[in-house]
Amino acid sequence: MRIQFIGLGNMGLPMASNLRRAGHEVTGHDTAPRARDTFIAQGGYIAASLAEGAAAAEVVITMLPAGEHVRAVYLGAEGLLRCAGRGSLLIDCSTIDVETAREVAAEAAKAAITMLDAPVSGGTVGAERATLTFMVGGSEAGFARAKPILAAMGKHIVHAGGPGAGQAAKICNNMILGVSMLGVCEAFVLAGRLGLERHKLFEIASNSSGSCWSLLHNCPVPGPVPTAASERDYKPGFAAALMLKDLKLSQQAAESAGAATPMGAHAARIYEALAAAGLAEKDFSVAFRFLDALLRDKAPS
Ligand code: NAD
Repeated sequence: MRIQFIGLGNMGLPMASNLRRAGHEVTGHDTAPRARDTFIAQGGYIAASLAEGAAAAEVVITMLPAGEHVRAVYLGAEGLLRCAGRGSLLIDCSTIDVETAREVAAEAAKAAITMLDAPVSGGTVGAERATLTFMVGGSEAGFARAKPILAAMGKHIVHAGGPGAGQAAKICNNMILGVSMLGVCEAFVLAGRLGLERHKLFEIASNSSGSCWSLLHNCPVPGPVPTAASERDYKPGFAAALMLKDLKLSQQAAESAGAATPMGAHAARIYEALAAAGLAEKDFSVAFRFLDALLRDKAPS
């Protein structure tokens, strides 16, 4: 397949490399010279312009920071909806707000171009190892075309529903993750104050109803899980800044859909405070360190 890959950052670069490894002819594009140079250094080809690359491609994949970038790349005067060939397939893998995803998909439909939202879970390690999970929104026919291409970059490829359903799945999943991580962090803070040894809490909770991914795979205290970010001074992993971004997206969606998500809202506020305290670039499990440093006034006895 002739594929154009737009957005060669932390995620996009290894994803594009995996497509090349699978035998696809990949043309890269990025506004940042450093990202383009890295792609070229790995043997990749950069088209003269976004328009030139898009016109020649059968499939265009985007991996951009946020909704505003997706709008610019798809809807701009020189954007994909103007330049892409009529029969081409457009796949946006960025994590963005549901509203923008649905709006861009509707514009693509008006131009008779098939477009999917396909955000991912699995982080940079998943991108490098081609083990990402793709949550795909869009038509059945579009999904069927995309699946073998996405399979070169991921392990689990799920059709979530119509346009925007991939983004909806992504922010719901990450709201669970943000809330559950904070629950685990608070339990370790309380255990410490109560004199309960952290290995003991881990051994008991991981075999009890408190068990969850945040505890088992990314335990926020060093000791119980050797591969957790807490073992390497909270080097990400999944940065707290990205968790904050996803929690904000979940709250934006909850507000426009009229859903009550008080735990998600509170989690967003905690990650905001943590980011303001200078921890945004640490793994999101650094919430343990942040909460452990807070003191709560004792009730008068
Ligand atoms: P990044 O900032 O490393 O990469 C984004 C790239 O897009 C940059 O190289 C930037 O120069 C480029 N870009 C920006 N505007 C552009 C434009 N108009 N045209 C062309 N290129 C443009 O970000 P990332 O970590 O690769 O994340 C990308 C997306 O994936 C985000 O939406 C993020 O939320 C999501 N995501 C990231 C992770 C992670 O662990 N990093 C995990 C899951 C999902």
